[in-house]
Amino acid sequence: MSQAVESYDYIIVGAGSAGCVLANRLTASGQHRVLLLEAGPPGRNPWLHIPIGYGKLFTNTRYNWCYQTEPQPECHGRNVIAPRGKTFGGSSAINGLIYIRGQAEDFDHWRQLGNTGWSHEDVLPYFRKAENNERGADEHHGAGGPLSVSDVRDRHPLAQAFIDAAVQCGYPRNDDFNGASQEGAGFYQNTMRDGVRASTAAAYLKPARRRGNLNVVPEALASRILFDGRRATGVEYRVGGESRTAHASREVLVAGGAFNSPQLLQLSGLGPADLLGSFGIPVIADMPGVGDNLHDHYFARLILRCTEPITINDTVRQWGKSVEAALRYAFTRRGDLATPAISAGCFVRALPSSATPDVQCSIALYSAQTIGTTLDAFSGFVIHACILRPESRGHVRIKSADPSQPPAIHPNYLATQKDRDTMVAGMKVLRRIAAAPALKRYVAEEVDPGPACDGDDAMLDFIRRRGSTVYHPVSTCRMGQDAKAVVDEQLRVRGIAGLRVIDASIMPTVVSGNTNAATIMIAEKAADMVLEDARAALAA
Ligand SMILES: Cc1cc2nc3c(=O)[nH]c(=O)nc-3n(C[C@H](O)[C@H](O)[C@H](O)COP(=O)(O)OP(=O)(O)OC[C@H]3O[C@@H](n4cnc5c(N)ncnc54)[C@H](O)[C@@H]3O)c2cc1C
Repeated sequence: MSQAVESYDYIIVGAGSAGCVLANRLTASGQHRVLLLEAGPPGRNPWLHIPIGYGKLFTNTRYNWCYQTEPQPECHGRNVIAPRGKTFGGSSAINGLIYIRGQAEDFDHWRQLGNTGWSHEDVLPYFRKAENNERGADEHHGAGGPLSVSDVRDRHPLAQAFIDAAVQCGYPRNDDFNGASQEGAGFYQNTMRDGVRASTAAAYLKPARRRGNLNVVPEALASRILFDGRRATGVEYRVGGESRTAHASREVLVAGGAFNSPQLLQLSGLGPADLLGSFGIPVIADMPGVGDNLHDHYFARLILRCTEPITINDTVRQWGKSVEAALRYAFTRRGDLATPAISAGCFVRALPSSATPDVQCSIALYSAQTIGTTLDAFSGFVIHACILRPESRGHVRIKSADPSQPPAIHPNYLATQKDRDTMVAGMKVLRRIAAAPALKRYVAEEVDPGPACDGDDAMLDFIRRRGSTVYHPVSTCRMGQDAKAVVDEQLRVRGIAGLRVIDASIMPTVVSGNTNAATIMIAEKAADMVLEDARAALAA
């Protein structure tokens, strides 16, 4: 083990959705020297860039942390998969590309919880600043930002049928889920440019890489934040077999995501004192909230056999169709490979008491018995329902003082009656949509759970047995004003100088949508805060 010491103004831990935004914005002026540490390798695998490649990366341990939850008590004791990106772009490099910000009410709720500066009116400018929407700018959308947002290039007949069926069920048609209202059915917009995935690595990091004031180190695992009393002064990290130390004269910015950010804080001495003590970690600050409040979007699926051979299963299974799809993508960037597997959806109020949509229904153009494994041998597709505002809360806790060991991830899915009721109600909505004429013509049979699954109890059992996540863990370094909150509204770790957490883990509550856009917004806003503080310090 050799020791090398480096010095920067800012150290960013994690080149994910948030970290790449920070790296770009903080180096733009040329005034600040920034070190960006990423545990994963650069994204050289082509499936990271081809939209349909999403399905190929679930079990790829090079680019995916491939975590699993602890046994979930309300899910028949199952370990549920918990994938996370481990490359430049982080989870935005392996995600489903869906661009949905959440509801205006989500952010107004953050503000009502006491987080000044985080109402919808406050955050909308940052969504717009990030965005380069191919439809152009309007009061809701931005154009000219780094993040390309596109419509699906080819409207698949099954996705169209799903939308039409939802409309037949009485839901409004919605052409813009990030516009005036989220409710209703339509095609999703995607983080994509000309048929290629727009991760934050492509959108933000790539244009910043040639700047002389940015040093990006891949395959570098941050193992500990260093402190002088209660001021963060740097980061210890491992690269190859070597342990290195880097000093930050201004701030350490932790952007490791909802599982790894609380893990790093705990490993560094910020967390519940009894937990840290049990692993012999010296306590810098007893912070019971670090790793607490984990919640996520649980979902369940109906697998349907299609009456026609038009699903992705058919494209993959039939040699001629695969070659045709590959050539079409190579020459035109269109066709099945350019189509995000989940390309349309419907936001519904499944519980009559809900004032705004509480369930997101979606259609995936393929089917597999287990997510991330071989596609079914029949023409199959999936429709699924995901609970948007779960009440269930769990935690992330280290299981070892060794930073290379995964933490215990316990989302505590389905722990409340309301969450279970919402899921059952959502599955009923799916069955109604599947039975509406526009989609019914494509449904040969419901394969899973099948018609024998009848009644609420049977459906709940199915949800427990077969449900999973849509990969939106948040809130483990929650922003707030109360004693258990980890960061304040400037995302500064409470009681610690020179340290912020800036990623999905700071969300006070999960947004009612998909979490990538909101994470990018958080990083855009945080970059402004960091730079404002730097300007103020210089002026003082
Ligand atoms: C399979 C999947 C599908 C998804 N689909 C969608 C979707 O369609 N639409 C959507 O909006 N959202 C989706 N999401 C969620 C969304 O992508 C995430 O919420 C978002 O990317 C989180 O951003 P982040 O910056 O918090 O963390 P991440 O993007 O996960 O970044 C964290 C980064 O930090 C690195 N890191 C962690 N610990 C360390 C350490 N100690 N040292 C150095 N580096 C470290 C990680 O390797 C990673 O690159 C999906 C997520 C997954 C996994």
